[in-house]
Amino acid sequence: MMNKIPYGRQHISEEDIEAVVDVLKSDWLTQGPNIKLFEEAFAKYVGAKYAVAVSNGTAALHLNVLALGLQPGEKVITTPITFVASANCIRYCGGEVVFADIDPETYLLDINAVRAILENDKEGNFKGIIPVNFAGRVVDLEAFRKLADEFALWIIEDACHSPGGYFTDSHGEIQKSGNGNFADLAIFSFHPVKHIATGEGGMITTNNEMLFKKLLNLRTHGIQQDFQKKIYDHGLWYYEMQELGFNYRFTDFQAALGLSQLKRADQGLVRRKEIAQKYHDAFANAAFVHGQSGVIEGHAYHLYVVEFENRDKLIGYLREKNIWAQVHYIPAHLMPYYRQFGWKDGDLPLSENYYSKCLSLPVYPTLTEEEQEFVIDTINKFYRG
Ligand SMILES: *Cc1c(COP(=O)(O)O)cnc(C)c1O
Repeated sequence: MMNKIPYGRQHISEEDIEAVVDVLKSDWLTQGPNIKLFEEAFAKYVGAKYAVAVSNGTAALHLNVLALGLQPGEKVITTPITFVASANCIRYCGGEVVFADIDPETYLLDINAVRAILENDKEGNFKGIIPVNFAGRVVDLEAFRKLADEFALWIIEDACHSPGGYFTDSHGEIQKSGNGNFADLAIFSFHPVKHIATGEGGMITTNNEMLFKKLLNLRTHGIQQDFQKKIYDHGLWYYEMQELGFNYRFTDFQAALGLSQLKRADQGLVRRKEIAQKYHDAFANAAFVHGQSGVIEGHAYHLYVVEFENRDKLIGYLREKNIWAQVHYIPAHLMPYYRQFGWKDGDLPLSENYYSKCLSLPVYPTLTEEEQEFVIDTINKFYRG
């Protein structure tokens, strides 16, 4: 029996371990120098001006929606084919989640579906859009920006799947995921299945200085971080809480791990692309596979998703062989929590159809050739006997 092959997993090197141990021996476990270093390196990596490290990707989403000032009852559009956090952040602020269907070719939020919702809206209560770079494929944020500007909306780019990914804009320029050129804010996660793993962790990137400063305050209880901006001053000991924030800080040893991992990020992307290419070639002519589009430029391949005939049985067969392929995602609007707001089966047929067939095959830099061949052979055996 092969060792368990998950759909994704972290890669921790000896260098990573040393980086963490160094911090553990230092004076700063949190709020030390590594956080700023990681933020600066990450901002540079994605091509954004500012970065704010936080405790996880969900906290990043929450702070974004807070910083953008969403009020109870206001509406935000997102995709159902995402991890539930992309929608939940809207609820944290009392907003209403409006799910729009996906484009069945790209599996990304369909801009035409979003436009239709906005054009049919009579109340003018929409405030933002949260597109998700699902599986690592980067949304055409230039097109979304144009649409958002027409309706005076903000954009949060959920880039948890796409560090290092990019799309090509209408001028042929490469636009890296999270670079802040089109979205107001972007968020990343450093959960172990993501490209960069720090245990828990998240990052916000932006080019907007005002939002950046607001996020710094909100990350630390709403305590003003810019000492020039204090309203009162009682003396050397004085700190001032001006608004209601949270403790969503990242730790220094996590930042050291992140910095060390970031050095290998591009290498990891190359390996992910190789794995995607190999799956593509293996199933290029298979009648039981749908939705393979060849290796896509700028795709960060957090996941390699395809649609399989008889998917439910295939999952069981793969599990017996210790291959833990996974379904991404159960459409968020079908979760009992969202059904209470009136969402039901059949509301978003393209997302639901995708959900009935999709499967994420194992992709991670340390997946060996032998393991990948085992995955491919096992799938072929299931269909071809
Ligand atoms: C992982 C993930 C999140 C949440 O990140 P956490 O760090 O787990 O809180 C949000 N959105 C997407 C698309 C994700 O994949």
